[in-house]
Amino acid sequence: MSGEQATERYDVVIIGGGQAGLAAGYHLAKRGVEFTILEDHERIGDNWRSRWESLRLYSPAAVDGLPGTRFPGKRMAYPSGRDMGDYLESYAREWKLPVRTGIHVDRLRRRDDGRDGFVIEAGDQRIEADQVIVATGAFQNPHVPDFARQLDPGIRQLHSSAYRSPSQLQDGPVLVVGASHSGADIAFEAAAASHRTYLAGHILGQLPVPLESRRGKVLMPVMYFLAKHLLTLGTPIGRKIAPHIRMGGGPLLRIRREDLDRAGVEVSEARATGATDGKPVLGDGRALDVANVVWCTGFRPDFSWIELPIVDADGWPVQSRGVVAGAWSLLPRPAVPVLVHVDARGRGGS
Ligand SMILES: Cc1cc2nc3c(=O)[nH]c(=O)nc-3n(C[C@H](O)[C@H](O)[C@H](O)COP(=O)(O)OP(=O)(O)OC[C@H]3O[C@@H](n4cnc5c(N)ncnc54)[C@H](O)[C@@H]3O)c2cc1C
Repeated sequence: MSGEQATERYDVVIIGGGQAGLAAGYHLAKRGVEFTILEDHERIGDNWRSRWESLRLYSPAAVDGLPGTRFPGKRMAYPSGRDMGDYLESYAREWKLPVRTGIHVDRLRRRDDGRDGFVIEAGDQRIEADQVIVATGAFQNPHVPDFARQLDPGIRQLHSSAYRSPSQLQDGPVLVVGASHSGADIAFEAAAASHRTYLAGHILGQLPVPLESRRGKVLMPVMYFLAKHLLTLGTPIGRKIAPHIRMGGGPLLRIRREDLDRAGVEVSEARATGATDGKPVLGDGRALDVANVVWCTGFRPDFSWIELPIVDADGWPVQSRGVVAGAWSLLPRPAVPVLVHVDARGRGGS
């Protein structure tokens, strides 16, 4: 630390002010814990506002609220990304959560003076905490295959995290790589904007009925029950499918196969596997002469800024209901969970 800057200290520091960080903050505030939330974006909710403009959530308002404040509007309405961002911002305001925006945490490490606790570094700021909640989410580090570099420089390439609307695409055909919900949404939108559109990737199933249909409304509570109780890391089946969901995306939700066919999207189960003469090549050997590629190829974890032995071989924190064992088992008070990784609903490890 630079000599001039005083070190701040808290019982708990939460890193990340998305759903998980805010929900954790709500519970800490209720218990009178002294804490702060550090959020990278300049404005709470920008994470959601910066997704593509036509995005509507796949989860209805009934399950989008955080503890203490229901999501406004009809329970079975599907909010936009902007609605979600605004909800998070007003949630932090309503519960007077101490969120400091525009703070990007660069390092998290154990104190080096022999005492318990952690040091958080953000630029030239240094903050100490007895306990840390890492709530930085799973969507920070866009993944694009290496062969993207071999594509002709004249092809416009975008990752889904940078895609906003078809106005970013240049004239001509579009290849969307990755047939999960992002890929389906974006391919559908590109085709509707009169681009010849290919969607390449293995489709991992789809909802059996349209999301917003009457039957979809009946099915939704069943699906959420299964997601909360069966498909968690606490069950064998949940553990089995977790790597597929993390690395390969999920089933089609709002835009299903029949919607893609109707819009004229050319769906190929063959994955994009490489490049030849600057063109993307599919697993069936076809080289596609496209003007645009949108990579809907997901995200990869990056916890390299946490200088503690907390990740497994796949790069995900080793945790049990959110408590990262490796971080506290070396400390004198091993029964006290000090580093916690939480998911969107404030629970650890699902
Ligand atoms: C396209 C898309 C659509 C989705 N649709 C839905 C949906 O319909 N329904 C649903 O339930 N879920 C949906 N999800 C998943 C949902 O976004 C996540 O489950 C949820 O956002 C996770 O919340 P979180 O708080 O864990 O992480 P995030 O919402 O990602 O929040 C993490 C926060 O941490 C901040 N941060 C990251 N690194 C740092 C750092 N080093 N220092 C400081 N701050 C940092 C980020 O700025 C961010 O605000 C969607 C995801 C995507 C990508």
